[in-house]
Amino acid sequence: MSVASSPRSTEPAHSRPGRAADALRIGGFIPLTSIDFPGRLAAVLFCQGCPWRCGYCHNPELLDATVPGVLPWNEVIAFLKHRRGLLDGVVFSGGEPLLQAALPAALDEVRALGFETALHTGGMYPDRLAAQLSRLDWVGLDIKGPWERIDAITRSRHSAERVRESLEHLLASGVPHECRTTWHPGLFGEAELLGMARDLAGRGVRHWVLQACRDPAVPGSEAAVGRLAAAMLDRLREGFERFETRTP
Ligand code: SF4
Repeated sequence: MSVASSPRSTEPAHSRPGRAADALRIGGFIPLTSIDFPGRLAAVLFCQGCPWRCGYCHNPELLDATVPGVLPWNEVIAFLKHRRGLLDGVVFSGGEPLLQAALPAALDEVRALGFETALHTGGMYPDRLAAQLSRLDWVGLDIKGPWERIDAITRSRHSAERVRESLEHLLASGVPHECRTTWHPGLFGEAELLGMARDLAGRGVRHWVLQACRDPAVPGSEAAVGRLAAAMLDRLREGFERFETRTP
């Protein structure tokens, strides 16, 4: 997903007291989406910073946590005040939103305006995720591969155990969610993909999405999900209430 521009606000930053959410560094903004928060019309905020370094990352400009935000929080709030009744919710995406300590205050402010909240996360901060679940109406959790592959994909040690713990918190919470996996066969093969599907279904995941991967190092990688045989898709679907593929 590309990161879009910022709205312009007429609310001066000095017109209201400082607040914790002001510290949220936002690297990009989409004013309207119908696909990032299922069943909702939503705006998307791309939070700056991510501790992982997946080779296929589509938002490399968001990875550096020291880069200042491009969109002040007061402009987000001003935008949302003008969208009440037009938007249902706000998606916090990234980067990794849970990296930032200002996220809880931002979620609270968005909810106080009457919007629902969604989080896209890689699952690297299980304790922080658990602490925010009561502020969330929906979570999209990336499961980047079979557990034994995740550290290599994220290029970060101990990633897999953190994602597994995040998944456990999410499943226990009852918060509506989807788990999604970005895949091409250069990351891991179809047999492992099938094993992963069995594992996730066995853990209680009800909704799994297999997403095409546009890997800059692998020309044509984005076509791989669309080329999976129908019989393979039927086997992947087993055990889930909902299984979807997302292709270009
Ligand atoms: S977790 Fe997401 S934002 Fe972070 S490096 Fe991986 S693909 Fe990029």
